[in-house]
Amino acid sequence: MITKLRGAALIRDPRLNKSTAFTEAEREALGLVGLLPEGIDTQEVQIRRVLDQLGLKPNDLEKYIYLTGLQDTVETLFYAVLMSDPARFLPLVYTPTVGEACLQFGHILRRPRGLYLSIRRRGRVREVLRNWPEPDVRFIVVTSGQRILGLGDLGANGMGIPIGKLALYTACAGVPPQLTMPVLIDCGTDNASLLRDPLYLGLRQTRPDPEEVTSFVDEFMAAVEEVFPGCCVQFEDWSGADAVRFLLRYQDRFCCFNDDIQGTGAMALAGILSALRITGGGLTGQTFLLLGAGAAGIGIADLLVEAMVLEGISREQARGRNWLFDVNGLIESSRTDLTAAQRRYAHPHPPLRDFTAAIESIRPTAIIGVSTAAKAFDRRVIETMARLNRRPIIFALSNPTSRSECTAQEAYEWSGGRAVFASGSPFGPVHLGGRVLMPGQGNNVCIFPAIGLAVFAARARRVTDGMFIAAARGVAEQVSQADLDMGRVYPPPSAILNTEIRAAERVAQVIFALGLAGVPEPPDLRAFINARTYKPVYRNLI
Ligand code: NAD
Repeated sequence: MITKLRGAALIRDPRLNKSTAFTEAEREALGLVGLLPEGIDTQEVQIRRVLDQLGLKPNDLEKYIYLTGLQDTVETLFYAVLMSDPARFLPLVYTPTVGEACLQFGHILRRPRGLYLSIRRRGRVREVLRNWPEPDVRFIVVTSGQRILGLGDLGANGMGIPIGKLALYTACAGVPPQLTMPVLIDCGTDNASLLRDPLYLGLRQTRPDPEEVTSFVDEFMAAVEEVFPGCCVQFEDWSGADAVRFLLRYQDRFCCFNDDIQGTGAMALAGILSALRITGGGLTGQTFLLLGAGAAGIGIADLLVEAMVLEGISREQARGRNWLFDVNGLIESSRTDLTAAQRRYAHPHPPLRDFTAAIESIRPTAIIGVSTAAKAFDRRVIETMARLNRRPIIFALSNPTSRSECTAQEAYEWSGGRAVFASGSPFGPVHLGGRVLMPGQGNNVCIFPAIGLAVFAARARRVTDGMFIAAARGVAEQVSQADLDMGRVYPPPSAILNTEIRAAERVAQVIFALGLAGVPEPPDLRAFINARTYKPVYRNLI
C-alpha cells in the first residue's frame, strides 16, 4: 500500500488525489465508495472537463484562480493539463497572468501555499523550515517580493512568483513537485497602498535596512543547508542591489543561483549562439552593446564574457567586447555613478548620451535591449545597425510587450529584412516582401528548468556560470535549420519539455565533469535524467 490515508482524507490530499479517476479496486480498498460519483474517468476525460471549465472563465486571472484550485486539489491533473500544451498554459500560470495575480494576491487567496518566513521569526528559521510537511526538499525558489516583474515592491504578494516559477520547473522540465518549496522572505513592504489595504497578507511594516535583511538571509541560507542538506536555492525578483549582493555572498558557499542575473544571461547567450549560425560569425569576433545595465544587463554581459573566455580569449579582451549603455548614457571610464559590477564594463571612451552615436562609435554586431525603455530602438538605431552590419543582431528583450525596445515589424522593416531579431515578449509572424518571419521569444523559461532538473538529478553541490553556458548551448543546439530559416533563434515554446530535458543533459555533463555531483556518474546520462523526471500520471495506490 502506497499510503495509509483512506476515504475523505485521501481525497483531500492533493498529491495522491485522483478525484474521479480512482479505480474500482482503489475505491473498494481505500474506503472511497460513495464518496465519488459512480462514473470512473480516464485522465484524458478529466483534462477535457478542465478545458471546458477553463473555457467558461471570463479572463486570464479567473483561469489562474481556477488552475491554482486544481493544483490544490488534484496536483497530478494540474500538471497533466499544463504539460499537455505548455505554450498555452504557461502564460496562465506564469507571466503575464502571474503579475496580475500578485497585484491581487491578498484578494484572491484561497488556500495558502508555500513557506512564509517573516523577519519577526529571526532566530527561529530552522524551526519554521521544519514545519514544512515534506522531509526532502531539493529546490527552493525564494523572493523578497521587492521587485516583482516590472511591478515593483509587492511585499508578501510576491509569493505568486516562487509558486508559479516552481510550477514551471515541473511543467517544463519534470522536476518532481514534492521536492520543491516556494519561499517568501517577508521583511515588510515600502508599498504604501498595500500597507493600507485591509486584505494585505504580509508583515505590516516598511522594509528594514539592508544589514538586517542580510543577517536574516544569512540565517535562512544556513538553516536550509542544515534542515534540507544539498538543497538548491534560486533567488528570484529581489531588488537589483540585493540580487547582486546575495549572489556574490553565497554562490561559492551554497548551492544557489539568481535567475534574473544568470538565467537571463544564459537565455541571451542561447539566442546569440543561434543567431551566429545565421550571421556566420564566431562568438569572440562579436561586439555587444547592451541597452540597460541592471540585473539583466550585467547578467548578460558577464555570461557573454565567460562564454568568450571559454572560446579562448582573455577575460580582459572579452570585457572589451561588451559595452553597456544605461539611463545616464554610455558606461565609460569617466562615469562616477557606477556599481562595482558596472565598472567592469567602463572602458575608456568619451561620454555619450545618444544611443545611435554609441552605435556609430562602437560599431556593435549585436544590440541587446534590457532597459524597460519602450521604443528605444527607433528607426535611426536600426538603420544604423543595418548600415554597419550585413545581418545586424537586434534583441529587444524588455518585458512586457509595451516595454519592448522595438517591435518585430519595426526591426525587420527598418533593416530591409536583414535583422536577426528576438524579443522578450512574443510577437506574431511578420510578412515582409513575400517572406513570413517568425521571431523567437527569448524568455528565461528556456533555461532555468533545465538547470533545475540537472541540479536535482545530479545532486549538484554548486551552480556555476559554466552550467549556465552549457544550458545555453543545449538550448541553441535544438534550434533547427527550419527555425533559423523563419528567423527564429529559440526553439518553439511547444517543444519546451524536450528542449529542457536535452539541455539538462548538457548541464549535468558539466556538473559531473567539474566533480560537483553528489551521485556517481551514470553510464547513460540521457536515461539517468529521463528516469528522474516527473510524469503526471496517476500511481496505483494499492
Ligand atoms: P533593472 O531595473 O535592474 O535595470 C534597468 C536598466 O535599464 C538600468 O540600468 C537603467 O539605467 C536602464 N534604463 C532605464 N531606462 C533607460 C533608458 N531610457 N535608456 C537606457 N537605459 C535605460 O531591470 P532588469 O531586471 O535589468 O530588467 C530590465 C528589463 O529586462 C525588464 O523589462 C525585464 O522584463 C527584461 N528582462 C527580460 C528577460 C527575458 O526573459 N526576456 C529576462 C530578464 C529581464
